[in-house]
Amino acid sequence: MLSEEQVLMRDSCRAFVDDVVIPFIRKDWQREWTMVPEERLPPEILAGADEIGIRTLGVPDEFGGVELEQAAEVQTFAIISEEIARGDSGLADKLVQNWKVAVLLRNLAPRHLQAKWFKRLVGDPQFLLAHCLTEPRGASDRWLPYNVPEAAMQTRAVRKDGGWLINGRKQFISNGYDAGLYVVYANSNPKAGMLQGTSSFLVPRDTPGLTVARCNETLGCRFMNNGEIVFEDMFVPDDHLLVENDALGQAGVYFRPGKIIQASKNLGVGMRAFELASNYVQNYVQGGRILIKHQAVALRIADMATRLEAVRALLERAARAVDENAPDADTLCNMVKLFASEEVLKAAQHCVELHGGNGVMLDFGVEKVLRDAAIFLHMDATVDISKFKIVKSMFPSTAGKYAGPE
Ligand SMILES: Cc1cc2nc3c(=O)[nH]c(=O)nc-3n(C[C@H](O)[C@H](O)[C@H](O)COP(=O)(O)OP(=O)(O)OC[C@H]3O[C@@H](n4cnc5c(N)ncnc54)[C@H](O)[C@@H]3O)c2cc1C
Repeated sequence: MLSEEQVLMRDSCRAFVDDVVIPFIRKDWQREWTMVPEERLPPEILAGADEIGIRTLGVPDEFGGVELEQAAEVQTFAIISEEIARGDSGLADKLVQNWKVAVLLRNLAPRHLQAKWFKRLVGDPQFLLAHCLTEPRGASDRWLPYNVPEAAMQTRAVRKDGGWLINGRKQFISNGYDAGLYVVYANSNPKAGMLQGTSSFLVPRDTPGLTVARCNETLGCRFMNNGEIVFEDMFVPDDHLLVENDALGQAGVYFRPGKIIQASKNLGVGMRAFELASNYVQNYVQGGRILIKHQAVALRIADMATRLEAVRALLERAARAVDENAPDADTLCNMVKLFASEEVLKAAQHCVELHGGNGVMLDFGVEKVLRDAAIFLHMDATVDISKFKIVKSMFPSTAGKYAGPE
């Protein structure tokens, strides 16, 4: 049962999505295709999200943020991100990155830097945060049992008087193109496995040596500008070190809520697909009857609804497990992120197929759900790597051990 706070937040998000986001997407459907990333999402949309108080979730009250009831924080994140993604999953990506990184910072950043950066975030509706792990030569493998030096990150951090010198490159980073502040992971001990030799740093965008190299033009979720970032002899002072050497172990504060949010955004895309499809089949006439009267069509609607309910059920269970810090929370997070990505893709396929030719016409606006759903297969680990993580967490001493030479 939802709390009063959750109902209020869900209702104001729902109104924002129905009154602002969906009408914008329908009217300006060409806008996501502009190749000028800065011009894609009008600033009023993030300002609107700010007005309803969902932009700075995760930021502590004392720094001007919107702090949710702690015992159900992740469950509330799930409710809100689903609603926003029902309107647009790229917009949801932009916002949730702020929540996820805010949670990380409030756990790991020194107080004076929290005060500085949370103030910037709260004060500027366009301010975005990013979390940089993935590199051209390493992503998925780091979540496998390959805790060996040769699988380490290639971005290197070396101690230098009063701080650290960082060299390397990150790719596929959400908000990477336009973030004001980055959390960057780098190898700080080449002799250790990555679980013992990776550190994380706070890196402001204007740090000398940091270059935003490109904005990736994605298939879906296009209102979030995914970017690549290069570091060349970039110096960050000591107090910008968040975690020394066991940064990956401590990233759980980011990844657990992160996987739940990923699955709930994904569910939002599925709900939009269901909304579009169920509306169409109740109105569109073929063979002298509205589509839903044709049994093959009705079966597809039932299949969509069943898949989405199953995702929701697992999502609720996994989100509760994270809020309660249950022993199986990690396993459930990976299960729901994986399960949602495959089930919602299928629901989106039904939606597009039920629309026939209209389903693949850009101006009709339905194909977007399929494009957006496809992105979730690859975010926060691939499908196969998520499965490895699930089995590794269930059988740590066999599946969780490196399969290389004894
Ligand atoms: C829209 C979007 C947003 C993203 N946002 C972020 C972000 O904010 N921050 C961030 O750090 N990253 C981000 N990523 C990166 C994402 O986490 C990676 O794309 C994902 O982890 C997969 O890594 P990869 O693309 O390098 O694929 P690869 O690791 O190259 O995988 C390619 C294929 O090989 C398989 N594979 C790889 N290694 C193995 C292995 N050892 N055994 C078996 N199979 C294997 C994979 O399952 C996959 O099928 C984002 C990606 C996308 C698409």
